[in-house]
Amino acid sequence: MNENGRLYLCATPIGNLGDITYRAVEMLRAADLIAAEDTRHTRGLLAHYDIHTPMTSYHEHNKDSKGSELIARMQAGETIVCVSDAGLPGIADPGGDLARRAITAGIPVTPLPGANAALSALICAGLPLEGFTFVGFLPRKEKKRREVLARVAAYPETLIFYEAPHRLRETLDALAESLGRARRACAARELTKKFEELRRATLGDLLAHYREYEPRGEFVIVVAGADENTAAAADAAEEVSLTERYAAHIAAGLDKKEAMRRTAQELGISRRDVYQALLAEEDKRSAPI
Ligand code: SAM
Repeated sequence: MNENGRLYLCATPIGNLGDITYRAVEMLRAADLIAAEDTRHTRGLLAHYDIHTPMTSYHEHNKDSKGSELIARMQAGETIVCVSDAGLPGIADPGGDLARRAITAGIPVTPLPGANAALSALICAGLPLEGFTFVGFLPRKEKKRREVLARVAAYPETLIFYEAPHRLRETLDALAESLGRARRACAARELTKKFEELRRATLGDLLAHYREYEPRGEFVIVVAGADENTAAAADAAEEVSLTERYAAHIAAGLDKKEAMRRTAQELGISRRDVYQALLAEEDKRSAPI
């Protein structure tokens, strides 16, 4: 194996063509080959920076055959820069598979850092930054989506989701149902572009807004973790009313599970939130004064 071979995973702009590093431009110029998710798309970027390096396509549907070919070229000593249409390759994009194969083959893998939609949204969302979970695109099938949301609903860290405009309403609906309408969130739209917008509100309010206004452009949805859940930290008045509602359902003969479900439905929050609020209320009552 020729030791000069190397794979660079290169970030490209997520909207503003200026968001690329000097080093990335230099490496795109100097590489033997650029492996691009969509060569037509990347051609615009290369033309902007007057880069004439040969390009080949590398995407989800040819990653097996093209991946082997690229590995062989790197083993023969070539440097290859892998780019996706936007942001970091491998993050909800092709690139991860090639990186794994290169690592297995003993080829050095180097990042060329830069733009990324998830982290750009996160740092501007106004939500806790101590820890976060990147979920990316939720599964389209409802059952799988529910499973993922049920898993992350209790995470204390801030959650990050990607979504396309035509699916935004459905996704906000699913998030509000599973995580609770009261959760603080931020819909970050068209980051770094002309119509950039960061809408900071609860999931319920975001859903109401985008039911009224057609979602346009690319979106990242950042949602507070369970610790930040305003439903669970509801003020005393709301907790009393939640407890009263629940007690009324029990008095009417419903079992605990159904009483929680009804209470959650009435308040537009998740059953888990109801459960936690009831637990918190119970703790308060049993605490020594
Ligand atoms: N690899 C990219 C990255 O590092 O961010 C993500 C690519 S993924 C196929 C595309 C999704 O990223 C979009 O559907 C949207 O959720 C998000 N996205 C990309 N560019 C964006 C932008 N300028 N503003 C908001 N979200 C964006």
